[in-house]
Amino acid sequence: MSLDTPTSGCLHTPVLRERGQREVFCGLTGIIWLHRKMQDAFFLVVGSRTCAHLLQSAAGVMIFAEPRFGTAILEEKDLAGLADAHVELEREVERLLSRRPDIRQLFLVGSCPSEVIKLDLSRTAERLNGRHGPSVRVYNYSGSGIETTFTQGEDACLAAMVPGLEETTDANLLVVGALPDVVEDQCLSLLTQMGLRNVAFLPSRRAADAPRVGSNTRFVLTQPFLADTAHALERRGASRIAAPFPFGEEGTTDWLRAVAKTHGVTLETFEAVTAAPRARARKAVAAHAETLRDKTLFMFPDSQLEIPLARFLARECGMVPVEVGTPYLHRGLMEPELALLPQTVLSEGQDVDLQLDRHASLNPDLTVCGLGLANPLEAAGHATKWAIELVFTPVHFYEQAGDLAGLFSRPLRRRALLQGAAE
Ligand code: SF4
Repeated sequence: MSLDTPTSGCLHTPVLRERGQREVFCGLTGIIWLHRKMQDAFFLVVGSRTCAHLLQSAAGVMIFAEPRFGTAILEEKDLAGLADAHVELEREVERLLSRRPDIRQLFLVGSCPSEVIKLDLSRTAERLNGRHGPSVRVYNYSGSGIETTFTQGEDACLAAMVPGLEETTDANLLVVGALPDVVEDQCLSLLTQMGLRNVAFLPSRRAADAPRVGSNTRFVLTQPFLADTAHALERRGASRIAAPFPFGEEGTTDWLRAVAKTHGVTLETFEAVTAAPRARARKAVAAHAETLRDKTLFMFPDSQLEIPLARFLARECGMVPVEVGTPYLHRGLMEPELALLPQTVLSEGQDVDLQLDRHASLNPDLTVCGLGLANPLEAAGHATKWAIELVFTPVHFYEQAGDLAGLFSRPLRRRALLQGAAE
């Protein structure tokens, strides 16, 4: 099948559904990029020492004078029901807020232990809002690993914010998903050049700039894992603009085109705004496509970015996806992507042993997977890419298209060098 003229891509491809042992990080991981984005927010995980360790190791070597995340550690007496954990938590929050007057948004983040002992964080959040609102807004969501993947933490966080957004009857556009500031600025510049005026971002950098929402709000997602947030916005009367995700030159152009169409932007304006950055993006991707072309690609389910990235790697870099796994397949959100993705094996969920068997028999050139699988696969001679890097690195829109391709070409180049050295 030609890559340039797909009839329906993978829209009607049967999906292999697996429910077995999974190898994924939990939703607490999202705090690492969310706290960087929301500059007056604090994330308080209500969890165990394991949760605190996860956060610290995921945050790596970042050192802050005043960190904006922490863990209220549930001790054994809390877990055994010997202390009222609600009372202790409120005391900790009061101490935190009196010490940190800069906090405007406080997220109480549930974990496996807080869910096991059935701590009702929504009740705590409500009580704290009564006491501290409106100067501090308290939200709660769950980052528990029992039923989540690591990107779902962002979805849960943003969905928790939606009911508290102010109502508006104005027509506005909401760009949804935590983007690094520099990428958000590029996106806003493109939309402004096309003549759009009332554009806001969720999440905003500061609580005071939180977007308003109503029945004249249109929103567009920048990340494919925001299904709950999309539903929450629809419940507020907003309507979603369906589009592929803004990865690579093609994805960015299609995303902008979908927005432009709903805002009456003329073709001339659209071409004038996008021509130069499109050309730059194509050139930057081409430099990496030389390494990637005709190489086979296997994606284990991890970040929920797998389908849009496989589409980018196949159509713009010439790779051949042999299996594209995703933790969840949200068909409604993914339709524009599936229509573009060349025929391949699509899998949803995971039974890690069965998937490793398929991987071994396909022996792909490049494997995208979670950290837990990367080391053993590297040791077995496979070139791998950690999926988690895709959410820590700026990868959206035109100016990042080359860097995005580079994330995948680098492991192949490294392996080629290693092989050359061994020969
Ligand atoms: S929330 Fe659950 S999976 Fe995540 S670190 Fe805590 S105990 Fe582990």
